[in-house]
Order: sequence, then C-alpha cells, then structure tokens
Amino acid sequence: MRKLIVQKYGGSSITDIKKIKNVAKRVVSYKKKGYKLVVVVSALGDTTDELLGLAHKVTKSPSERELDMLVSTGEQVSVALLAMAIHKLGYEAISFTGAQVGIITDASHTRARILNINTKRIEEQLNRGKIVIVAGFQGVTTDRDITTLGRGGSDLTSVALSKALGAETCEMYTDVEGVYTADPKIAPGARKLSKISYEEMLELASLGAQVLQPRSVEMAKKFNIPIHVRSSFLNKKGTIISKEVKAMEEIIVSGVTVNKDEAKITIYDVPDKPGIAARIFKDIANKNINIDMIVQNISRTGATDISFTVFGRDLNRALTTVREASKKVKAEGVSYNKEIAKVSVIGLGMRSHSGIAARMFNALARNKINIEMISTSEIKISCVIKKRFADKAVRAIHKEFGLGKK
Ligand code: ADP
Ligand code: ASP
Ligand code: MG
Repeated sequence: MRKLIVQKYGGSSITDIKKIKNVAKRVVSYKKKGYKLVVVVSALGDTTDELLGLAHKVTKSPSERELDMLVSTGEQVSVALLAMAIHKLGYEAISFTGAQVGIITDASHTRARILNINTKRIEEQLNRGKIVIVAGFQGVTTDRDITTLGRGGSDLTSVALSKALGAETCEMYTDVEGVYTADPKIAPGARKLSKISYEEMLELASLGAQVLQPRSVEMAKKFNIPIHVRSSFLNKKGTIISKEVKAMEEIIVSGVTVNKDEAKITIYDVPDKPGIAARIFKDIANKNINIDMIVQNISRTGATDISFTVFGRDLNRALTTVREASKKVKAEGVSYNKEIAKVSVIGLGMRSHSGIAARMFNALARNKINIEMISTSEIKISCVIKKRFADKAVRAIHKEFGLGKK
C-alpha cells in the first residue's frame, strides 16, 4: 500500500469560510505526517438544493444536460476556495474539476456511471508534492459534456479515486461522528457503530441513511475498499465499513432507517386477469422508473387494486405512464399519495432469527401507527406509514430493539 489517502469533505462540513479553513488545517495536518493527499469536496452547504431550486423556478421539466451544467458549478466553487485556504497555510495545493482529472462517465445525465479515470494528471501533481483537490459528484463524457453522479455523488468520486490511485484508506468526513444505529438527528439516543459490513451499510444507505451514497458503498464492496466515516469537527475514530466479520452476525438488528422521499401510487379496479400487471409494469420499466414495494389486494369481484411506491423524484413521470397504462387495461382510476414514509430495520443477524417483524409491528402498534405496506428480505423489513409519524416510528423501533446507548 502506498502512503496515500483520499479524504472527502461533504457539504455539511463546509457550510462557511470558517469551516473551509478548518478543513484546510485538517488536510495540512495529514500532509505534515508525510501522506500524499487527494481531497474530494462537495458543494458548500445546501448549494446543490439551491441550484436545483433555481432550475425549477425556470421550468418544471429542465433538461438533464443543463441541470448537470448547473449543479456541477457548486463543487467548482468549493475546490477553488479550499485550495486558496491551503495556500494561505503555506502549503501547495491545486484544484481540479472532474473533467480536468479525466473522470470519464457515460452520458446518462444526473445519474452518470463512471467508465474510467485517467489518473495521470493527479499523479503528476502528487509527485510535485501538491495536495490535489478534486470536485466531487461530477465527470465528463467522451463528447466533453459535463455529467453528475446522482445525489451524494461525491462519495462515489472518493471511492472511485481510492480504487484508481490504490489509496491506503478512503476517509469520509461529515457532520456526525460516524454511522449510527439510526439518524442521530432523529433518534438522539442512537449509538455510533465502530464497524459495519458493506452489505449492511448498503442496505442502510439504500433504505434512507443519507450518510453514504448507496452506489459508493456498492463500489467499495466490489473492490474491497475500506471506508472510514468520521467527523470533520472532532479528532475521533468513526465507523469502519469493510467485509463481513463474524461479530457482526451476532447482532440481530444493526440499524433503523427512514426514507421520506417515496410516493405511493394506487390503480383502482384493475381487471383481475393474467398479464395485466405485466403490461402496466412493463410500461413503467420502459421509462426507467424504479418500483419499490408492490401490494395487490385480494379480488372478490373480478377486479383488484394495485398499489406501489416510487421515488419522489420519479413521481410525475410515473403518474403520466401509469394513467396511460391504466386506460389501456381498462382500470377505474389512479391516485397517489406523497405523505408517506418508509421505515426499515436492517441486520445480517435477521437471517437466523425469527420474530423480528412481529416486534417491529408491535412497536408501531403501541404508538398507534398504522402500517400501509410491508416488504421483507433476508436482512431487512420495511413498512410504509404516514409521513407525519415517521420520526416517532424510528424512535419507537430503535427503542424496541434496544439499539440506543448502553
Ligand atoms: P455530507 O454533507 O457530509 O455528505 P450528508 O448530509 O449527505 O453529509 O450525510 C450526513 C447525514 O446523514 C447526517 O447529518 C445524518 O443526519 C444523516 N444520517 C441518516 N442516517 C444516518 C445514520 N444511520 N448514521 C449517521 N448519519 C445518518
Ligand atoms: N453536492 C452533491 C449533492 O448535494 C453531491 C454530494 O454532496 O455528495 O448531492
Ligand atoms: Mg452526502
């Protein structure tokens, strides 16, 4: 292993100039220890949301290519400011956009996939003793169009650079001290996990724990790159994400998550005949819309209701398609509900333990929270409930499984 670290600082760690200076100091302290450093940064604070807000003030359906042109500017601001802050401390640093360091992606704007990273330019600068600062979340197509890697995409930039450069570790600095048993902002009693497997982290991230982008965990798992999630404000060990280890299996439930960005669509009185669901869901799949949970009611009258959930960002596109499809199959109508949330429990140990679902349902029942949909897998159980009960549900389930501080 070479003495090279990739560090990523999220938007929450650089909300103002004082914090950028704090990050610069931290980066320099590693340089002093003799490390080569590649630093990935996100846009300042809520910049990405603000830029998206501007776009939506102009039009309801902005072009995805132009969205990428717009939001990628956020990261360009932070890399330059961080480089200046490091210069001020008397150290050499150079900032780059994704395109400048050759992060080549496909052309699926707003959710592009990294195809290749040409590390030549980064290596040259590292060999000159410079701290290299790279804009997170962005890449470029072979046609030189700017792309972005999906929300939270700076995490993916960091893991991909760690792999491409053969880094010793990939450190993700954020505004919490690591990965917790639940979002510490929702469940103040949540406990920091000292380590967690890729598999569990992938479930936590996919089911709503914002702390890491799911795609970044997937890539880390694929290339076996350990991730260290830790605080950018304190000098403390955080959470190590690595391969499954035995001790983790003994823990039945490792975390509770909530996702408030899903919507439920219901199609009423669908003819209860073979092939109908296939027709509806084929149309949705053709539009590249991901479906999460599906529930079909028992039919007594020859017609049935089908409900399913989609990501909030896909709702409008999904509705257009579903309305057309429901006419084709002669269903009665379509409704939707955005006021839902999905709460989940996750744990590798659930594979070998029964009764987890019952305990989860009980915790919700005691709090008079109605379950609208359920889905399970080997290592997770999810329930759709009303959005206004989401935080309460997380706290209740977290308590039920005794996940809090001992
Ligand atoms: P960054 O700006 O560093 O990328 P994010 O806002 O994307 O930070 O992610 C960090 C946030 O993730 C935390 O502030 C926390 O509220 C949230 N979060 C949700 N679930 C968890 C969890 N299980 N452990 C830690 N943080 C979590
Ligand atoms: N700034 C981007 C976002 O808000 C990327 C990131 O933060 O990782 O999604
Ligand atoms: Mg993030």
